[in-house]
Amino acid sequence: MRSYVVCVVGPKRNVGKTTLVEGLVKNLTERGFHVGTVKHVHGTFDSPKKDTWKHIQAGALITGVITESESVTIWNKPPQTLEALLNKFPRNLDYVIVEGFRKMVHPKIIVADAAEDLENINLENLIAISGRIVEKPEELKKLDLDVPVVKINEGEKLVNLLESRAQTIFVNQLPGIDCKSCGYDSCEDLARAVSAGEADVRQCITLFTKVDLSIDGKNIVMKGFVQDLFKAVVMGVVKELKAVPEKIREIDLQIRLE
Ligand code: SF4
Repeated sequence: MRSYVVCVVGPKRNVGKTTLVEGLVKNLTERGFHVGTVKHVHGTFDSPKKDTWKHIQAGALITGVITESESVTIWNKPPQTLEALLNKFPRNLDYVIVEGFRKMVHPKIIVADAAEDLENINLENLIAISGRIVEKPEELKKLDLDVPVVKINEGEKLVNLLESRAQTIFVNQLPGIDCKSCGYDSCEDLARAVSAGEADVRQCITLFTKVDLSIDGKNIVMKGFVQDLFKAVVMGVVKELKAVPEKIREIDLQIRLE
């Protein structure tokens, strides 16, 4: 499944980025979307006082922490880029909201107090501007940017903007194989229906697959009936195994040939 990644960026000081992220996550979750988040932190998350630090220093490739309410994984050699980290996220996320990473080209929402806060921010793919700057017309005028201006507590309005962007982006990625699994005769027909507000681009089960196949790191596109075939074969085998739960939500299968 594909996730729409959005960065919430602004100056380092307290301008309301986390409040905006909280509002987005809450509103997206209430609409039934699966949401993940990433927070860019300077320095180190672990610390020499912690046992996990000692485990890693001793040479563990990966260490985990489990409490009653959460689990955390720390890699010895962490993914060095946002993309590498996102590749380790579950594939069933509709949205990943990233707090930070102001230089990335991902779609972004800027949270700012004043026009000067936009210095050093990559302004490509800007979805909206938010923060206290919204209440300062003279600062907004200095920016001369043609993007929606949204208050920090207008989570629903922001989510509408995100959804509209996500639909447009994913429509442009429809595979063009006209497999009809979405109920439309062609990808173009689904694209037209999405533009008219009559369909959701996530109806394309080839793009938003429920069966993921990647070979040596390359995702393989499968038509709906091929996904059904894979699912039926794997389920047939799995159901014959001992200790398999009655109700199965997700199956991960990796085959190493070397
Ligand atoms: S399911 Fe996807 S690939 Fe198949 S026709 Fe619909 S839009 Fe095209």
